[in-house]
Amino acid sequence: MSDRAQEKTLAELAPACHECGSCGYIYEPAKGDSKAGIEPNTLFEDLPEDWRCPVCKARRSQFVNIGSSSAPSGFQQNLNYGFGVNNLTPGQKNLLIFGGLVVAFLIFMSFYTLG
Ligand SMILES: [Zn+2]
Repeated sequence: MSDRAQEKTLAELAPACHECGSCGYIYEPAKGDSKAGIEPNTLFEDLPEDWRCPVCKARRSQFVNIGSSSAPSGFQQNLNYGFGVNNLTPGQKNLLIFGGLVVAFLIFMSFYTLG
């Protein structure tokens, strides 16, 4: 369940940009379109039906989804590494568990020798 919430958050962090097929203007959701009264962080899909390209007045249908330009490819994967053990590969997980055991063993031994 938390994974789904996470995906939504990631999608919101890197919304898709759309390029005008007529003039090359790129609509960036993070910036919005202040001249047309579009607030920053407005998704292209959420733009009003009568929204036009601010440069050449092309209709929304002229725009092409070009993905997120602000986030390089792999951005979401890298971000996932911050979320914890669930996103580690099995190999990394084993390493983590094994490393944890070694540390625990060393701590145990240090108590044992001190005692
Ligand atoms: Zn245009």
